[in-house]
Amino acid sequence: MKKFVIGLDIGTTSAKAVLFNGYGEVLSEGEEGYEMTHPKPSWSEQDPQIIERAAVQAIRKVTQGVNSREIIGVGMSAAMHSIICIDENHLPISPSITWADGRSTTQATSLKNSAQGTNIYLRTGTPIHPMSPLLKLIWMKETSYTPYKRAKRFISIKEFLLSRWFDEYVIDYSVAASTGMLNIKTKQWDKEALDLAGIEEDQLSKVVSATYQLTGLSSSLADEMGLHVDTPFVIGGSDGPLANLGIGAINPGEVAITVGTSGAIRQMTKSPKTDQQQEVFCYSFTDDLWVMGGPTNNGGIVLSWLKELFTTPEIENPFDLLNEWAEKAAPGSNGLLFLPYLNGERAPFWDAQAKGGFVGLTLSHKKEHLIRAGLEGVIYSLYHVGAALERLSDPPKKLLASGGFARSTLWLQILADIFGQTVEVPESHQSSAWGAAWLALYSLGETQSLDEIKNHIPMKLRMEPDEKRHNSYSELYNVYKSLYPALKEPFSTIHQIQNK
Ligand code: ADP
Repeated sequence: MKKFVIGLDIGTTSAKAVLFNGYGEVLSEGEEGYEMTHPKPSWSEQDPQIIERAAVQAIRKVTQGVNSREIIGVGMSAAMHSIICIDENHLPISPSITWADGRSTTQATSLKNSAQGTNIYLRTGTPIHPMSPLLKLIWMKETSYTPYKRAKRFISIKEFLLSRWFDEYVIDYSVAASTGMLNIKTKQWDKEALDLAGIEEDQLSKVVSATYQLTGLSSSLADEMGLHVDTPFVIGGSDGPLANLGIGAINPGEVAITVGTSGAIRQMTKSPKTDQQQEVFCYSFTDDLWVMGGPTNNGGIVLSWLKELFTTPEIENPFDLLNEWAEKAAPGSNGLLFLPYLNGERAPFWDAQAKGGFVGLTLSHKKEHLIRAGLEGVIYSLYHVGAALERLSDPPKKLLASGGFARSTLWLQILADIFGQTVEVPESHQSSAWGAAWLALYSLGETQSLDEIKNHIPMKLRMEPDEKRHNSYSELYNVYKSLYPALKEPFSTIHQIQNK
């Protein structure tokens, strides 16, 4: 019998189902999009029932024409930090409030500046930030949000899907950790965080390991999905650590770097690590692995902004043209530095009021220097987060890159040169789905180790660093990292002026 496995990734903009064979080869992909709504400028909400339907349709798309008996399992991945209020009839009485929602900015600022906030971060590994469900709950409590007062439970989007499909309320380690309410050492809900949120432990789901299996689809749902009623679903984790697994960044020093619209740098560790500086997150993943890292708000969005500035809509491949222009400038952009904080910044300093800026402009600088400095600035920012990771964990030995930026060999070379490390890029961009599928194979006994996945990740590209360029970038980076602290206050004043 042939054996297939599905990775289901519930992302911010769509549900993606990917059908793999046991060797990590993608046989088919099914995607179903959904909307984010913004009832107020900083709010970002989604309809959980629409997402549930989208997930079923995405699975349906990849099971068509496949014998359901040959699909041995489904592994689950989901975006972090969502929260939904559920009533006693198991119905959603609020939208899914997503990671991108900023309604709790005031609550986050005040908790972050307190000793209690620091202690909660040290135990939970989730930076005190409006993205975190803990802060959303505090906002709900303080504003007497009606669904909060009526809620029997508070769950994330993945728990919502699983409770519909299997009638169980369970949450995996990494999604639980991203609520900001899980003690990442003991993997128990943190009493002080719950008190602050004004909720009881029985309003949250049971915390289970990433390999936990759920079975018992109803026959109508199984039919709709194109699966067998006995097909096991493996709970998996959140999209971050699963992307690390799916790209093979599992051991100390193996660093995953994703740059899409935003970006992130992550590595696994064998023990939880947090410190007073609160620069990075640390989430539980499996019984003996934690993932630490930092998200940046400013990845490909910087190049998209430069595209708007320097190209016109009739140009066919504007990103390629920007790359060609950037290649004309020498590494280091003639001493021009770009601070990429166009969208405020999360890691490493978590300041929504940070701004972008070119520093070092002279009459000699041309368009190509500005573009190249933009590409370099995004990588300096990741390197800055990488330095925080290295302080707590292990120095990088190899970088595994994914996301839209990997279409630019120039950008990948800049990455290799600034970090002074080899960069590898996998063929498939569906790393979270492959990580989820592999975890399902592991849970089902089809493979004996998570590490074994490395033999099943086809790579398409490898870039080596140049030592001379690394040295000159290091000199510029030292200036780069001094700029944000020097400009923090002016940025805040500019922010007040811009928002008058
Ligand atoms: P998302 O975050 O929406 O999943 P993607 O991973 O598709 O995004 O990445 C989108 C980003 O990829 C764009 O903002 C753009 O900056 C970058 N990008 C797309 N094509 C190229 C290219 N040829 N060269 C460099 N960057 C590119």
